[in-house]
Amino acid sequence: MRQKTRAIAIDGPSGAGKSTVAKAVAKKLGFQYIDTGAMYRAVTLGVLREGIPVDNEAAVTEKSCRCSISLQEGIGGTLVFLDGEDVSEEIRGPEVTANVSAVCSYGGVREAMVAQQRAMADGGGVIMDGRDIGSHVLPNAMLKIFMTASSEERGRRRHKEWQEKGISMSLEETIEDINRRDHLDSTRALNPLCRTEDAILLDTDGMSVDQVVAWIVRQWQQISGEEGAHDLSFHADHR
Ligand code: C5P
Repeated sequence: MRQKTRAIAIDGPSGAGKSTVAKAVAKKLGFQYIDTGAMYRAVTLGVLREGIPVDNEAAVTEKSCRCSISLQEGIGGTLVFLDGEDVSEEIRGPEVTANVSAVCSYGGVREAMVAQQRAMADGGGVIMDGRDIGSHVLPNAMLKIFMTASSEERGRRRHKEWQEKGISMSLEETIEDINRRDHLDSTRALNPLCRTEDAILLDTDGMSVDQVVAWIVRQWQQISGEEGAHDLSFHADHR
């Protein structure tokens, strides 16, 4: 049997709350958080800025190999850099969101990103979220979680996020966008969104962020036999 990687893989559809939860778990356990969606978003921004049509696979792939993407821990969370420029805010906008699923469906783009993601996880002690982490990027992760919630709940969460950022999009449009991306992500030919047999299903409908975080930390402690490196003295209700 292959050696397990000291890592937590979180996969699931858009708006399930993966990144909020993963960030908090990383803090509790002293892990590095790797937001793989942010990497695909940064490539998409680079493509859009150069005016490359997203359906031009060769040009998009070429761009993905040419741009440099890095993640850094900032005070308020992970900062995302594209060719040295902080694009953390810009990659969350509606234009990138609408085009990212097309960009990340290309094999050459995925290969370039997956190689970087594996290199980042090399030393262990990471929590990575995305769509293909447990199935493809880190198949030997010690803990795999497939996090989901109903599309209405996910739409409401994303809609609230848009509103807080001053982006006007109706709840119906937001749910439609989430459903469209889920469909593209789970039906694409390469490393689609899927739950592996060894991933624990976590339906977060009706759970608070604190409850989900506490649940994952507990799973990690049980599986790894480790205590968290940081503040584990919090209390939370468990289902
Ligand atoms: O997680 P987030 O919504 O930021 O991801 C943006 C997009 O990047 C997803 O809709 C999906 O198309 C793509 N993605 C992916 N594989 C990953 C992470 C994200 O295809 N590991």
